[in-house]
Amino acid sequence: MSILVTGIAELTTNDPARGDDAGSDPGDRLLGIVRDAALVVSASGPDAVVEWVGRAGDAPAADERRDLGGRAVIPGFVDSHTHLVFAGDRSAEFAARMTGTPYDGGGIAVSVSATRAATDDELRGLVAARVAEMRAQGTTTVEIKSGYGLTVDDELRSLRIAREFTSHTTFLGAHVVPREHAADRTAYVELVIGPMLEAVVAAGGPALAESIDVFCEPHSAHAFDGDEARSVLEAGRTAGLALRVHGNQLGHGPGVRLACELGARSVDHCTYLDDADVDALVAASGTTVATLLPGVEFSTRSPYPDARHLIDAGVDVALASDCNPGTCYSSSMPFAIALAVREMGMTPAEALHAATAVSARSLGLDRLVAPGHPAELAVVEGPSHLHLAYRAGVPIVRALDL
Ligand SMILES: [Zn+2]
Repeated sequence: MSILVTGIAELTTNDPARGDDAGSDPGDRLLGIVRDAALVVSASGPDAVVEWVGRAGDAPAADERRDLGGRAVIPGFVDSHTHLVFAGDRSAEFAARMTGTPYDGGGIAVSVSATRAATDDELRGLVAARVAEMRAQGTTTVEIKSGYGLTVDDELRSLRIAREFTSHTTFLGAHVVPREHAADRTAYVELVIGPMLEAVVAAGGPALAESIDVFCEPHSAHAFDGDEARSVLEAGRTAGLALRVHGNQLGHGPGVRLACELGARSVDHCTYLDDADVDALVAASGTTVATLLPGVEFSTRSPYPDARHLIDAGVDVALASDCNPGTCYSSSMPFAIALAVREMGMTPAEALHAATAVSARSLGLDRLVAPGHPAELAVVEGPSHLHLAYRAGVPIVRALDL
């Protein structure tokens, strides 16, 4: 069964070779824009595949037809950094921060206690609601980290539940040092890279966790310094996991350079960078993506990273939500795009590309709208992708269910 989708005022393909010849605008070229477009998709549901892309006037016949009435279609957002497996409520911590209490990572322990106390079904229900919330805002692919269990059993449980929703799961046992290990950090790092990692591997290795991540942040007493982060990442790499890093969020530190040196797929936050960090990211382009999470700066009232400088230097810049209960309880990729455009100097086209093609690359995927590719699409209640940032805060984009 095939479906012909028409009434597409503007289609973002992320394939510059596929865009309209007339597209002299650099944003149009980056996004491979086709105007007055049509698509043919085989089958329906999660296994749908794009069969044909082009101008509406050239469209072949199909079994069924669907008219979108002049809306824009974009690749579904790839949210490559989230912490969806958690229980409890930290809205009071947010309120306190807005009236002057700085963030230092200590509140994570509150989520750890609540998550350990929750049943499997409670956690599963919470993750399901968050994934549905994301899909309703155009996100069709999500990465989910563990990191609020911090025992062997609770980390495994978090990963198993995350795995029910995505194949892009990340083991984040090195999120913070839990309270019960505060007196002996070394013992906790040895637990993470020893029994905890061994249990993840024994339970399926890359089948249970695609990546390993570490909160490398010498400015937080709860997170990990450069040497600790290196041992976590090297152990994960030996176990066959891809590498991701939380780096340079609260201040200058070794996270970005470590991620680049070790060939991580992504280093995330990148809020505080010096010239050597930027040089390392430029040299690592094609391998290591800098994933910016502007919802965090918004929700912690912090300075935004300089995306304009990074892109102009040649760094691969992605956008993600970092949806988590402490520093950004927003699952909205359109919100991240609006912040990237308004606060970080990205063009609307760069922001959409960063939230789809580049964030996908950090998960080992591509996100093209082209024949043979999964039909992971979103539809915008407006004639162009520009409306994503232009109509900030308005629910105008959703995953396209055919
Ligand atoms: Zn995070």
